[in-house]
Amino acid sequence: MSLSTWNHFISGAYYPPDSNQYLNETSPVTGEATYHIARGSASDIDRAVHAAHAALDSWRSTKALDRGRILVKIAQALRDKAEELALIEQTEMGKSLAQTRVDIEIAAQYFEFYGGLAPSIEGETIDIGPGKLCYTVKEPYGVVACITPWNAPINQAARAVAPALAAGNTVVAKPSEFTSVSTLRLAEIAHECGLAAGAFNVVTGNGLEAGAPLVSHALVSKIAFTGSLRAGREIGIKAAERIVPVTLELGGKSPDIVFADADLAAAARGAARGFTINAGQACIAGTRILVEKSVREQFLPLLKAEVEKLKVGASDDCQIGPIITQPQFQKVCEFFDIARDEGAELVTGGQRQKGPGYFVQPTVYANLKSDSRIAREEIFGPVCAVIEFADEAEAIKISNDSNYGLAAGLWTQNLSRAHRVAGKLQAGQVYINEYPSGGVETPFGGYKQSGIGREKGREALNHYSQLKTVIVTL
Ligand code: NAD
Repeated sequence: MSLSTWNHFISGAYYPPDSNQYLNETSPVTGEATYHIARGSASDIDRAVHAAHAALDSWRSTKALDRGRILVKIAQALRDKAEELALIEQTEMGKSLAQTRVDIEIAAQYFEFYGGLAPSIEGETIDIGPGKLCYTVKEPYGVVACITPWNAPINQAARAVAPALAAGNTVVAKPSEFTSVSTLRLAEIAHECGLAAGAFNVVTGNGLEAGAPLVSHALVSKIAFTGSLRAGREIGIKAAERIVPVTLELGGKSPDIVFADADLAAAARGAARGFTINAGQACIAGTRILVEKSVREQFLPLLKAEVEKLKVGASDDCQIGPIITQPQFQKVCEFFDIARDEGAELVTGGQRQKGPGYFVQPTVYANLKSDSRIAREEIFGPVCAVIEFADEAEAIKISNDSNYGLAAGLWTQNLSRAHRVAGKLQAGQVYINEYPSGGVETPFGGYKQSGIGREKGREALNHYSQLKTVIVTL
């Protein structure tokens, strides 16, 4: 196998696709092919799911402390191989090495965190009166399907795979067809660290040919999906047909509220980062910046200045990398036309970056109504809509006026207001005076159409375990 051709990873070894066909990944910086990945189909999925199923008994009966020890070993191996993995992700995504290094470190943290928690997965006893003993046990579901997107490939894969394994499940992962190689390497490294063959398999390929048969496979007992609302809805329907539990981590159009009493300089800096993180290709991006009318004229120039400090490009001194694919790049550029047609005031940006690659300028639009497309639709590029509000009640109303509810931010120096507003925002995570915030320890997931269930934190383990109650008559 040449360095640039990657097969599926099944039962602890690389395995060619039954179709004998490969897909090209292409660089968003040069537009040229980078890696060839196996084009998976239903028969490859079937092989991988059977491998995971065969590995289940041994993995789930491995003492939790020993399972955890292997996961912690994987964390260390990821750190040891961080440069190699960061380079793979840079090749796949085009963003700077400085940024991909952060994603590798986060992936390591997921394995470290869930490795440490594995032995703490406990049941409880329940007093149901004399002559009886009642206790609960947390058991794995079985084979878990982990389907992930392209915007933080190894990080998203680790977020689902680490808690699934910690809880005693085995895994078949289907990474995005645009960024599969780092997940393949993750599985290979995991097996080098002592994970049994078949405990973590990876089948590559596109959503309909490889993802859909994985979701429908009769031996898959739990689905963890991260991606678009469109695919999430389709997967949710299929899961409902088989009554299989599903975690859906979907999109967002998150508000970031700047109250007049905020430290406006800090808010401008944080809001600029909040919507441009990962070139805006982040589900939690704070793309609706709500600003209190009385400070609008002060705040907008501060925001403009912060956004214009951000450098676009692929080198380490750049904060804004490329958009992943040509169609996604085209979509972001179309929103520049939509904003013009909607009469938005262009504060800065609004164009593709000159030169090769799918780069766009970080862009701020103002004078927008909350019902404009720029303010409602997930663009998935570094584009934000600034919307004014008169008072706290209106800020909450506009923030919650969205089908999404993934994250929300607010900037204020008034402690009471901070907690009052946080309590009323319809979002799975709320950041106060920083955007975004938190880590692998903080539960994460969406309200409304941003998803179902929670990843991250101790809470995620509840979504990878099922509860059994045992009642003994003594
Ligand atoms: P996508 O839905 O197109 O693809 C995600 C994954 O699902 C890929 O592996 C794809 O091949 C697969 N897939 C697509 N259709 C499928 C189907 N019918 N059945 C089974 N699998 C299928 O999403 P994307 O474009 O890769 O990622 C961007 C989206 O992901 C954005 O909407 C973003 O907000 C969301 N996202 C959410 C989170 C979160 O944690 N909430 C994190 C990152 C990205």
